[in-house]
Amino acid sequence: MWQLVKNAKIYTPEPVDDTDVLIVGGKIAALGKGLSLPSYAEGSVVDVQGAVLTPSFMDAHVHICGGGGEAGPASRTSEIQLSHLTRAGTTTVVGCLGTDSVSRSMAELLIKARALETEGLTTYIYSGGYQVPPKTLFPTLRQDLALIDKVIGAGEIAISDHRSAQPQIAELEHLCAEARVGGMLGGKAGIVHLHLGEGKHGLEPVRTILNQTEIPITQFMPTHINRTYPLLEEGVEFLTAGGHIDLTAGCDDFPRDLQVPAVLKLLYDRQVLNDRVTVTSDGNGSMPQYNEAGQLVGMGVGDVSVLWRDVRESIISYGLPLEVGLRTITANVARVLSLQRTGMIRKGYEANLAVLDEDYQVHHVWAKGKLMVRAKEALVRGTYEQPPMPPGSAVTG
Ligand SMILES: [Zn+2]
Repeated sequence: MWQLVKNAKIYTPEPVDDTDVLIVGGKIAALGKGLSLPSYAEGSVVDVQGAVLTPSFMDAHVHICGGGGEAGPASRTSEIQLSHLTRAGTTTVVGCLGTDSVSRSMAELLIKARALETEGLTTYIYSGGYQVPPKTLFPTLRQDLALIDKVIGAGEIAISDHRSAQPQIAELEHLCAEARVGGMLGGKAGIVHLHLGEGKHGLEPVRTILNQTEIPITQFMPTHINRTYPLLEEGVEFLTAGGHIDLTAGCDDFPRDLQVPAVLKLLYDRQVLNDRVTVTSDGNGSMPQYNEAGQLVGMGVGDVSVLWRDVRESIISYGLPLEVGLRTITANVARVLSLQRTGMIRKGYEANLAVLDEDYQVHHVWAKGKLMVRAKEALVRGTYEQPPMPPGSAVTG
């Protein structure tokens, strides 16, 4: 089926004069002004009446098969459901394991990624978890990257954290070499997605590896860089030296100037907010909840919708240009992870699109050309998101 989205204010993420996007076979077939469906085509036209049309969002760090577990068995979180992602505007997701690679497995992560793909999204995974050496599907990380399509890197490997495996530099170097060569063999980024804790060593292990090996700085994608002030400063240095940095949204318990909206503005003002900066939600992991006095009052589940919530906030409240904010969760993610023909509105690219309302809230969402969310309502639901059917009502024959 052909679809034509008309009268949009298009951000590719760059603002352009074109207003219409033609979708055919899940791809963007044309971009222009005054487009119409050919008479022989069966299709539909959506007139968005001047609303913003952007690439839908890419979230490179989500605990899709659940996370948590750090406060005991009862603190494990559940699997994510399709519409949690689509209603947040996210249609491409990279799944990861975290602290718990005992009750969680790579097999579970891979199967969950395949389930979300079947339900309509684009999914990838990192091989490993906090632990070093990483738990992999094949005996080596190199094999996972070379042989399993969905594996695009290693992660989230924990360093400078009390929950990490306290890896030796030599172990980390070996892991990075495996990721690099495995990535080359598989035609992937082979990115090393590093979880940075609050530990005093910060990015020092990475600097050591860069000093004593031939591994390039672009192999790394350190995340949670906005966790502390010293780490943020190290992150800016790392970025300036040619590295990638990833910020974590939804950290509502952090000081305001370490939260994504303010940090994006800070990087922008310092003229370092380039195409190597990304934002992720760390969604679906466990999220400690604190009261105003900073006391732990309970546990919640990280919501993937904080990705756009925080980037939107940097645009609305901190004056970041729309395209600059959008890049951090679209084109930059595709670039850092070497994902082809996605993350931008361009002819031949995947039709992963979102329409924002006048308040910049996610309104319509397409994944691979399929309308998943219309006027904030999920049209497509995951297998177990259907309302249960009353007994005896199942359609047979
Ligand atoms: Zn983490």
